[in-house]
Amino acid sequence: MVKSVLVVEDSETNRQLLCDLLEKVFYCTVATAADGQEAVDSVKNVNPDLVLMDVGLPVMDGLAATKILKADPATSGIPVLALTGFSGAGDEERLLASGFDGFLAKPFDLAKLLEKMRGYLTQRPL
Ligand SMILES: [Mg+2]
Repeated sequence: MVKSVLVVEDSETNRQLLCDLLEKVFYCTVATAADGQEAVDSVKNVNPDLVLMDVGLPVMDGLAATKILKADPATSGIPVLALTGFSGAGDEERLLASGFDGFLAKPFDLAKLLEKMRGYLTQRPL
């Protein structure tokens, strides 16, 4: 079953890396957004199965965008994974308190990315 994923990243490099991974390794249809407001609008249009949300974003950060998505019954059931370079004590708690369902640490580790996404997506058979 084809799954749709919304990738929210203001870094073109990270956006492209995630799009390639999702399209080539998993059977995904990928939509992208480059800031938090665009993300909120896109989720309503695309109705994705999964959102990968950068935390540091222009216009509206990923924490604020995720709070909005999780407060709306129409979008609250969509899993949102944070993409974050934060690694200090309390960061994970803060992300989960904002409504994120989990997180992927940056810089990305390909094996860990695959492992985390496997729970949400179907991997293309080799
Ligand atoms: Mg960023």
